[in-house]
Amino acid sequence: MTAKILDGNKIREQIFVELRDAITRLGAESIRPGLSAVLVGENPASQLYVKSKIAACEQLGLASWLITPPSTVTTNELLAKVEELNRDNNVDGILIQLPLPPQVDTKRVLEAVDPAKDVDGFHPVSLGKLVSGRPRLVACTPAGCMEILRRNEIKIEGANAVVLGRSDIVGKPMALLLMHANATVTICHSKTRDLPEVVRRADIVVAAMGKAGYVEADWIRPGAAVIDVGTNKVTDAKEAERLLRNFPERLEKFRTKGSVLVGDVHPDAFNTAGALTPVPGGVGPMTITMLMSNTVKAARLRRASATDKAPNAGSTGYATQSTASAR
Ligand code: NAP
Repeated sequence: MTAKILDGNKIREQIFVELRDAITRLGAESIRPGLSAVLVGENPASQLYVKSKIAACEQLGLASWLITPPSTVTTNELLAKVEELNRDNNVDGILIQLPLPPQVDTKRVLEAVDPAKDVDGFHPVSLGKLVSGRPRLVACTPAGCMEILRRNEIKIEGANAVVLGRSDIVGKPMALLLMHANATVTICHSKTRDLPEVVRRADIVVAAMGKAGYVEADWIRPGAAVIDVGTNKVTDAKEAERLLRNFPERLEKFRTKGSVLVGDVHPDAFNTAGALTPVPGGVGPMTITMLMSNTVKAARLRRASATDKAPNAGSTGYATQSTASAR
């Protein structure tokens, strides 16, 4: 058996089509959704991420602003900037690119963002709404995982779902989204006993640990759906061979390039799972997609006329809603 590939790029294209439609409707009300990204310092990885986010805004015709305080910025200076963005009516989404430098109180800065503009879904108000089954702006990566499951018609209701990882930005919101979609959810972490046995019971596995190929193929129940959030750069030749021994083309590429991106699930799971997100090209493209979706949704909820705010006013803004039952 080989797994159906759950292609994140294809879903991104579908959602972009829906977003363009929503953006056109907002345009008819003279509303142009806008995202403001705050990028502190010169971390190359952060610069790359923010660049991709701004590029996605441009691709969709959203307004975007890039604010680049120096790495010496203080908590108070950032709080003042966030306050200014909170007050600016043209800004629908505020994104604080993490990590912030050590002298900055990250929690205080994130909590200063107006929850109505919290397009990353990190604010305690956004998390609280998710817990209580009334999600508004949901963290982008888990929201993207739900889109992958839904749009591939993977049955969630009644399924045994195992989430590997309990971070605030992936594992916890993911588990809540699955629970609100009526899955029976088990959350695993570094202290979980008998992990292989727990995973073997899963119809749906969501792996978000940050450990290259940690989940062995024989932990995956034949036919299960695997959502691999892990994005790990492997540079060690022995490790690459362990992971890619059955994928000679990828191993060859590794040898040429000196590195390869792999998920938390061993690539051999392709031969056991029923469906699987590839790394790269699975969950990765969904994170920025859902950021765009959240920005459009924030614009609609804050600024659109009552008709356009209605739950049935087009699908896309509600793509970030976790479940029918959670609406
Ligand atoms: P994180 O904050 O480091 O959390 C990792 C989680 O995995 C923790 O809850 C940890 O448990 C658990 N864990 C670690 N080792 C484990 C083990 N041996 N068995 C069971 N659980 C274990 O990571 P994160 O921010 O959630 O990210 C997870 C992965 O997703 C990373 O590879 C990251 O790069 C990737 N990611 C990808 C995207 C994307 O767009 N594709 C977005 C976000 C994250 P404890 O709580 O007990 O420490």
